[in-house]
Amino acid sequence: SPAKRPMPPPQAHSTPPRKKARLSNGVASAIQEQRRELPIARGREALIREISANEVTVLIGETGSGKTTQVPQYLLEAGLAQAGMIGITQPRKVAATSLAARVSLEQGTPLGGCVGYAVRFDERAGPDTRVKYLTDGMLTRELLGDPLLSRYSVIVVDEAHERTLRTDLLLANLKRILRERNGSGKQKENPLKVVVMSATMDAEKFSRFFNDAKILYVKGRQHPVKIYHTSQSQTDYIDSAMRTFFQIHVDQPPGDVLIFLPGQEDIESLQKSLEMFSRQLPIDFPTVLIVPMFAALQASQQQDVFKPTPKGSRKCILATNIAETSITIPGVRYVIDTGKSKEKRYLAGPTGSGFDTLLTRDITKSSAMQRAGRAGREGPGFCYRLYTEDAFKQMAAAPEPEILRCSLVQAILQLMCVGQDIQELELMDSPDDDAIISALKNLFIIGAIDDKRRLTPLGRVLASFPLEPAHARAVVASKDLGCTSEILDIVSVLASSSKLFLDVSDKRSEIADVRRKLVHPSGDHLTLLNTVRGYSTVGIADASTQENGKAGRNARREWARQHFVNERTLREAANIRDQLRVSCERAGFDWKVSCGDAEEPVLLALSHGLAQNAALITPDGTYKQTAGQQIVKIHPSSTMADKKVPAIIFDELVYTNQIYARGVSSIQKSFLASLGAFNTRKA
Ligand code: ADP
Ligand code: MG
Repeated sequence: SPAKRPMPPPQAHSTPPRKKARLSNGVASAIQEQRRELPIARGREALIREISANEVTVLIGETGSGKTTQVPQYLLEAGLAQAGMIGITQPRKVAATSLAARVSLEQGTPLGGCVGYAVRFDERAGPDTRVKYLTDGMLTRELLGDPLLSRYSVIVVDEAHERTLRTDLLLANLKRILRERNGSGKQKENPLKVVVMSATMDAEKFSRFFNDAKILYVKGRQHPVKIYHTSQSQTDYIDSAMRTFFQIHVDQPPGDVLIFLPGQEDIESLQKSLEMFSRQLPIDFPTVLIVPMFAALQASQQQDVFKPTPKGSRKCILATNIAETSITIPGVRYVIDTGKSKEKRYLAGPTGSGFDTLLTRDITKSSAMQRAGRAGREGPGFCYRLYTEDAFKQMAAAPEPEILRCSLVQAILQLMCVGQDIQELELMDSPDDDAIISALKNLFIIGAIDDKRRLTPLGRVLASFPLEPAHARAVVASKDLGCTSEILDIVSVLASSSKLFLDVSDKRSEIADVRRKLVHPSGDHLTLLNTVRGYSTVGIADASTQENGKAGRNARREWARQHFVNERTLREAANIRDQLRVSCERAGFDWKVSCGDAEEPVLLALSHGLAQNAALITPDGTYKQTAGQQIVKIHPSSTMADKKVPAIIFDELVYTNQIYARGVSSIQKSFLASLGAFNTRKA
């Protein structure tokens, strides 16, 4: 058992790797040297002492001081992982996987050995794992099977200042677990320790929440950063970022550039422009090396950002707010800050209905300061803000906790499965009643709860899938309708982190031409299914190529390129589908069941999940949502954009200058009568 595993005694700095590392001694000792030079290393003994002595510790420290990578290792080396694992939560998947990779390298053990990670749809951890990096969502899921998190002896809640919905739910649960595992009168045979870590100075609130927990500060190493604002506000931040980059590149001494952008689409579009213009630079100029950094990147690509910049070139990192506090990239001297980020926000509808949207919004002062700080880690730096000083002054101080502005549907369902009521949970900030009522309505419509607000057996099945409840509902419906294979193909694309269809604005008509044979008359969901099927049969149909051979892979890549389809999404979706098949097997359904080319079962199964996202046509050609009476238009990117049909379902509403439905399919009006609250029979 893990409790019996002998641990090395604490040492002054780091213990030698327990499994022989496959690194040369030179590399290994350079890594240990880097560890010793981090600002946090001087506080190692004090940290171990305080964390050992206190049930809860709040640790505040500048980004890059070594909190996330070092604290778990210190605790491991001091023997605190003997009775259970050390779990470190991250709000983002990319951070969890890339930090685990770094820490396993520092420990000299293979990833998934002593150091591992677990994120949705991807896990590398095993019986030897003592330090596990996970998303806060994964750890809240683990509560379903292990309500006291008894496999852990220490939980480190990292990036707590972000106050994501999952972090807040986790903090509330940790408070309960501490009472149950460590409470007076209990034999403390398996006590839990909690460490809350944050990059900003909001320690008091966390400390108060945990009954005045001890606060520790790590002094960082921050050099001065000169900040420039624009004199006028910029209308096109991508163009403005590009110009600023080339000004730096042409006029300023060596040093890498980090550009903060709201999302993946902006990153990809700026990357294209930068690549195009840097090819036109005179050849005696340093080469521009562009490195994107966003959530949907594959693990191998994530590591590119840490590779040293070759001599005679300048790295230009295009990142979302992932690089704000979670990941520290070395070598950055210049920061370009667009002042924007994507934020999930719940838009409440008139009759208690509502929906989550991802909006590009102005960042807060605290984010702006963090972004600027990234330029001053290794020496004096420069930050170019693409907004005016006035705009900075008008920014909100810090982001509002996500629990106050997001849909609570999934959260409430998960809480119900562990017998918790969100209104009774002791949260740092409690959501308002309207948000809770709207989520409960939604759960009622998909049959997850009954009219007495009790969890139904179906609700429990829905929660067992690592999917949004709406998608899980479609999977469950597909069982009786005989189309599980089709629904899994569709929801795995919907659950992946990037878009399937690429949109290249100067090639619109070319794209429309090649995609024509993929487009299904009933709309976007079956078009998506055609695409998944089209891709996966490439190279198989042709007997001369092997499905998994190099030729097959190349043929598929070429097919994706020709159809302007994001191959990364398809590969991620295939991986998600594999995991969903396992979930189906556990829930006792056959994932192979297919309805062939029949469209009706697929649309009906989807309608069961998207019942709250249904709308009927109105005389003026717009659509009116059946729940909530919201007027919506079909998004121009949809294959249904120019069609008028009696009834539609859609994946989401997006809000730009008006409310658009995206991911739209035409359904029979009669479907709607058979859905929702009337259909709560057992799965
Ligand atoms: P903090 O959590 O205090 O912000 P971290 O522990 O994340 O600090 O970072 C400490 C150091 O580890 C930083 O200098 C960072 O650049 C480095 N680091 C983190 N991940 C990697 C990686 N994958 N490869 C190389 N260096 C890394
Ligand atoms: Mg960190």
